[in-house]
Amino acid sequence: MRTKLCLLYGGKSAEHQVSLQTAKAVIGALDLNKFDIYPIYITTEGNWIEGNQLTAPVDQVSELQFASDGQSSAVAHSLISKKYDVIFPLLHGPNGEDGTVQGLLEVMNLPYVGNGVLASSAGMDKVIMKNIFAQANLPQVNYVWLTRKVWMEDKEAAYEKAEKELGYPCFVKPANLGSSVGISKCTNREELAAAYEEAFQFDRKIIVEEGVTARELEVGLLGNDDPKCSVIGEIVPKKTFYDYKAKYEDGNTALIIPAEIPEDVQTNMKKMAVTAFQALDCSGLVRADFFLNEKGELLINEVNTMPGFTPFSMFPLLWKHAGVEYPLLIEKLIELAKERYEEKQ
Ligand code: ATP
Ligand code: MG
Ligand code: MG
Ligand code: MG
Repeated sequence: MRTKLCLLYGGKSAEHQVSLQTAKAVIGALDLNKFDIYPIYITTEGNWIEGNQLTAPVDQVSELQFASDGQSSAVAHSLISKKYDVIFPLLHGPNGEDGTVQGLLEVMNLPYVGNGVLASSAGMDKVIMKNIFAQANLPQVNYVWLTRKVWMEDKEAAYEKAEKELGYPCFVKPANLGSSVGISKCTNREELAAAYEEAFQFDRKIIVEEGVTARELEVGLLGNDDPKCSVIGEIVPKKTFYDYKAKYEDGNTALIIPAEIPEDVQTNMKKMAVTAFQALDCSGLVRADFFLNEKGELLINEVNTMPGFTPFSMFPLLWKHAGVEYPLLIEKLIELAKERYEEKQ
């Protein structure tokens, strides 16, 4: 039976461009003998634009590709009318990866790919995520967090808090974002002040973490109740850290698959990744990011509930190494979405 698949992409977040790359790749990889593809493009302003069914891969994904009346209400109507069998939110960051879109799809009782409301929202907020990891006894770096309001009221105290509890170097991050957007490494007060300024442009809440000198390892998980791990990959950024440019523009960050690490570290990391997946009640897919510090200890950095998903991103490359090619990976995710949906009915 053919599957009517709706792709949601673009989105209001700072990761809009990343989502466009993903959508183009997914559309190109889907087997048109099996799927009817319906694109819905979400503009940076948050308007939902529904395209006509695609009959061939596209050169460029943007609203211009699709005949549309540009009416968000018409989009809502076609969602409600159950025109689609499965929705695939190819969205990163706030308003897409954070449970909000997932909530909309739950309310409409539609099957969708990837994590549900709880895992998406808990996974998007680095503070909440780390609190849950702490409760699951997962080792991680020390951190503090604060809101813009607290910072504005007493900036000196806001800097001192991080300096006292963490020291330098430290990393300042918007609590809710990804792709390294708004993240800075700080080695002194001047950089810390600039980093707060930067991070607060993206969020009303930020996290400051102890900076570690470590190898960076990532593993992909696929499944619902009983997730399977991919092989482990290592990231070797050529810059001070794995920032936005290194991820999407330079293309010269080395991804080493499989990572050359001892067997026991691999076993331990996969175990920790499954613990993290289950602690957040994840489903579908997750990419779990770790640090392997100089003492040989593993620290979990984060999980990403909608990891980078172009064919050249870590998550698909890890599964490719495990024998799951990109088109098959997409089909597996769609299957997992249907399974989870049916289980809930
Ligand atoms: P993505 O979702 O794309 O993986 P993100 O925006 O959620 O990224 P992080 O993964 O938390 O951001 O951090 C981005 C990069 O910054 C890491 O891959 C690493 O290179 C560096 N980094 C982050 N936190 C630390 C830390 N505490 N110590 C050392 N390096 C860090
Ligand atoms: Mg992330
Ligand atoms: Mg992310
Ligand atoms: Mg990361």
